[in-house]
Amino acid sequence: MVDPTSDLGEEVDESNAPRCAVCDRPIVRDPTHRVVTWIDDGRIEVAHFCGPECREAWSGLPG
Ligand SMILES: [Zn+2]
Repeated sequence: MVDPTSDLGEEVDESNAPRCAVCDRPIVRDPTHRVVTWIDDGRIEVAHFCGPECREAWSGLPG
């Protein structure tokens, strides 16, 4: 059982945080963080979102 609130030792700051694919906000320990992965032409693509609103606003996934 993994407790998602106890990720000690994995400090993330804005300089290496992923950015929201919609609003470009750095995502730092954001509880509403969403990640979408898909395969594009054999490569794994990843998009991060700061929350469900941006996830729904996103239209970057082909198809
Ligand atoms: Zn966003």
